[in-house]
Amino acid sequence: MARTPLVVALMLAAAGLTACTTAEPTAEPTAKPEASAAPSGSAAPAAVPTCDPRASLRPTTGLQIPAGSHMQKIKDRGRLILGTNQGTVLFSSRDPFTARIEGFDVDMGREIAKAIFGDPDRLAIRVIPNAERMDRVEDGTVDLVISTMTTNCARLQRVDFSTVYYEAGQRVLVGKDSPVQRIEDLGGRPVCSVAGSTSLDNLQKVDPKPALVVRADYGACLVAFQLGEAEAVSTDDTILAGMAAQDPYAKVVGPRFTEEPYGIAIAKTHPEFTRYVNAVLERMRADGTWARIHDRWLGGTAPQPPAARYR
Ligand code: GLU
Repeated sequence: MARTPLVVALMLAAAGLTACTTAEPTAEPTAKPEASAAPSGSAAPAAVPTCDPRASLRPTTGLQIPAGSHMQKIKDRGRLILGTNQGTVLFSSRDPFTARIEGFDVDMGREIAKAIFGDPDRLAIRVIPNAERMDRVEDGTVDLVISTMTTNCARLQRVDFSTVYYEAGQRVLVGKDSPVQRIEDLGGRPVCSVAGSTSLDNLQKVDPKPALVVRADYGACLVAFQLGEAEAVSTDDTILAGMAAQDPYAKVVGPRFTEEPYGIAIAKTHPEFTRYVNAVLERMRADGTWARIHDRWLGGTAPQPPAARYR
């Protein structure tokens, strides 16, 4: 597995590499905040109905592709269009030597392409900033988003999610010599996270609150940390593990202080595609494909994949 060394991370961030992309990541966030991301001090966000964010639509026609379905449209087009980011090492990041975007999330997309076409390479990747994940699903730019994306009730107002394919949680990355042990030790101190992420929302609720340093992707947060613009980065432990793998002067500390169940985001206008993706996930859990992808990117002993829940 390719690791992005520090110098390459800095070069990638500086060059803003965007080959194969439709939307260029920006140095600073420009997108409107998500429904769940109203900063404290602004008008209260609309009340979000309670729900079970882990419950998705049950597969009804298995891996069949009925005429007129969204799967048939994808098949006729010849490519599955995946929205993801390019700054999350281990999940979706650009290999600096091949320029291909790869990782756990990309492999999930490849399995869905394989189910539809019998060929995992029939995947077109669009790089989208995290803050635009739901916009691009809603406007049909992409068929799905697989991008370390937490399913929650606020986001379910706008998009559907598959069943959960990974259970993450938010932690903190600091310098190797830092005395910081948990997020509460960083009150008033500069902590980086990404626009449009649940991580940023969660940081708003920490008491005492850190000073937020906001970037468009996690590669930019790592660079901010390395340049001393941020004392820490706080986001999902999965993403922090990818950063720690790139930076020998960083360590991940403290307990998980949130639950971040990952789902695949799909437009509400074609629920049959969500059901189909759930059928693919069922097969991946059962036949060892999920464990193989886990092993490839995250190593160690693969845990049981999250069990499917349906509503
Ligand atoms: N999983 C969280 C989210 O979906 C944080 C990581 C990310 O930005 O992808 O917002």
